Amino acid sequence: MPQVEDEWDGMDPLVARELRRDTAAEWIRKKSTPAGRQCPVCQNSVWTVTDVQEVPPFARVVAAADGLVIPVFLLVCDNCGFCRMFNAIKSGVIREKP
Ligand SMILES: [Zn+2]
Repeated sequence: MPQVEDEWDGMDPLVARELRRDTAAEWIRKKSTPAGRQCPVCQNSVWTVTDVQEVPPFARVVAAADGLVIPVFLLVCDNCGFCRMFNAIKSGVIREKP
């Protein structure tokens, strides 16, 4: 798993969290189609963006404490709770170190 960095590292954690969520929301706005914005379960189109989460790869569960995780954020349907998961590196919310 590549090393990642947080461009808001060192900033007030609450402010950094909001900046990451704003970046994720803007990325989703640019990438999604009108049909893609609808929940596949209930057809609602209002979603909440979560903070970045860490998902340990299945084969690396034991090593997850060493930072071998996949950073993701979720979109949670405000009506039914259906969750969509997006890679936080691919979206630019968290960057890979060169
Ligand atoms: Zn829904």
